[in-house]
Amino acid sequence: MIPAASFAGKHVSIFGLGGSGIATARALIEGGAHVLAWDDNPDSVAKAAATGIATGDLRGADWAKFSAFVLSPGVPLTHPKPHWTVELARGAGVEIIGDVELFCRERMLSAPTAPFIAITGTNGKSTTTALTAHILKASGRDTQMGGNIGRAVMTLDPPKPDRHYVVECSSYQIDLAPSINPTAGILLNLTPDHLDRHGTMQHYASIKERLVAGSETAIIGIDDSWCAQIAERLERAGRQVIRISKRLPLTDGYFADGTNLMEAVHGRYSRVAFLEGIGSLRGQHNAQNALAAVAACLKVGLDLGEIQSGLESFPGLAHRMEQVGRKDHVLFVNDSKATNADAAAPALSSFNRIYWIAGGLPKEGGIEPLRGFFPRIAKAYLIGEAAPAFSATLGEAVPYEISGTLAAAVEHAAHDAAKEDGGEAVVLLSPACASFDQFKNFEVRGEAFRQAASAIDGVKPIGGAR
Ligand code: ADP
Repeated sequence: MIPAASFAGKHVSIFGLGGSGIATARALIEGGAHVLAWDDNPDSVAKAAATGIATGDLRGADWAKFSAFVLSPGVPLTHPKPHWTVELARGAGVEIIGDVELFCRERMLSAPTAPFIAITGTNGKSTTTALTAHILKASGRDTQMGGNIGRAVMTLDPPKPDRHYVVECSSYQIDLAPSINPTAGILLNLTPDHLDRHGTMQHYASIKERLVAGSETAIIGIDDSWCAQIAERLERAGRQVIRISKRLPLTDGYFADGTNLMEAVHGRYSRVAFLEGIGSLRGQHNAQNALAAVAACLKVGLDLGEIQSGLESFPGLAHRMEQVGRKDHVLFVNDSKATNADAAAPALSSFNRIYWIAGGLPKEGGIEPLRGFFPRIAKAYLIGEAAPAFSATLGEAVPYEISGTLAAAVEHAAHDAAKEDGGEAVVLLSPACASFDQFKNFEVRGEAFRQAASAIDGVKPIGGAR
């Protein structure tokens, strides 16, 4: 745990007592702050109180005494409308921050030179975070990974000069971290997502921009126009910007040429790493993730040999194009994390004969953006609430069935794929939907897929990303 010494002796209110809220409360208490914590859910309040955290309804609190208000990133700061605690804090002139902000302040207090790599973007954050942390760890660096992935950031080990932090940041966390100042900040890409919580694309992009604007070195994927503009803007403002592109040769920066990762310096190219034969980093999207990780690792002083060897030993993450089983020519791939069309596109572009399981709780835009991949889909198996809308989009273009449940979809897809003659056939769960209509979360959905696949006679499990 990182004791939050920056608030020693001060009063701090907290709202939101999930995992990161409790961790934040503990860190503040350990650092000597007086904490008053609350949540709309009585069970969460009771759980926190049972661990010795002082709780109380913040409606009746004396807000004038609080030096800061720590809000859980799951609670609306701005959209669709500010949470009532936000109104109270603003009314009393109390600053509103999150756990990433606390982390940044502790690092500045105790070890400001500790290398800190922060990662954001619409898609690929977790993969890039895990990959960067893996490369650092494999090279023998003291490495702590957390934030929006794995451990809440305040539960990591305390900063010291040679300790490397790799922190995934959601837009909500950045919105609550006004002084975020990583050594290397990565902005991978920007496409519309979470607009219910951010209002407009403009606002969403401006929040993401803050992470790279505060960075010593800003590493920006310039394959979309939002990010390209951000890179321009930061460079004009005199910031150090490293551009990366998964598809275009750049004059300066890092780009992918097939599976080769290239460095460009004033138009002269040299290969810095390669992804050929690395199963966990297949696809153009992973080239973007790997380029970002490579640029960040170079920035904090790793050499090319250390980086290549880390890339090669990366096991991948569960539920992201994860190969879970094989039976003869049929490969079973779990891409449950693909909860919108943009996130499903990489998997659909990485295989050819696809028996595609899709559906769940639909997102705006449905699967229309995936139309270009329809010729790769041998048949679709539709599940959940999105099934009628998806079937309307598939229309005559792709054969489909409404399977209803994931279990039925896996069974039918496996049966049909087994009949295919010729090359590899892939039973792919890449739902382009949230999971909440049928599952607790995407992890549970992915596990259900793995189990359904391994229950099929003759399927051999493929290990790796667990
Ligand atoms: P995040 O943490 O941002 O949600 P993940 O690394 O967990 O991202 O990947 C989520 C999904 O997005 C996966 O299904 C994957 O196929 C897709 N994806 C991963 N990296 C990228 C990328 N760089 N660009 C677009 N899509 C990506």
